[in-house]
Amino acid sequence: MARGLDKHKARLEAVAAFGKDLARRAGRKCELCEEADDLRPYETDADEEPELETLILLCSRCRQVTAGRKDDPRTLRFLEGAMWSEVDVVAATARAILTRVDANWARDALDLIEQS
Ligand SMILES: [Zn+2]
Repeated sequence: MARGLDKHKARLEAVAAFGKDLARRAGRKCELCEEADDLRPYETDADEEPELETLILLCSRCRQVTAGRKDDPRTLRFLEGAMWSEVDVVAATARAILTRVDANWARDALDLIEQS
């Protein structure tokens, strides 16, 4: 048990070490919706060591949506902009969420990016 706990703690510290770089990249805003509510790094690849390239700074709501929570598609339109982000992990996260959004605009947005 203790070893697992240590591992968890080490991981949190590793993620926290990227906090400043992440905040700078994100402009201290959620990298998906640009809100500034309870921003925290989110690991998109929990199987790998934390890297700036696999971390994304998200608000509390976007963390839940990224983790799989369903939300009203009408409130997720910001993903249309985020999916074109120059930051790969932001674009990939936005696209991954869009594939789960049941709305015509989301399908159109994904079509558009496939054609680009
Ligand atoms: Zn957000």
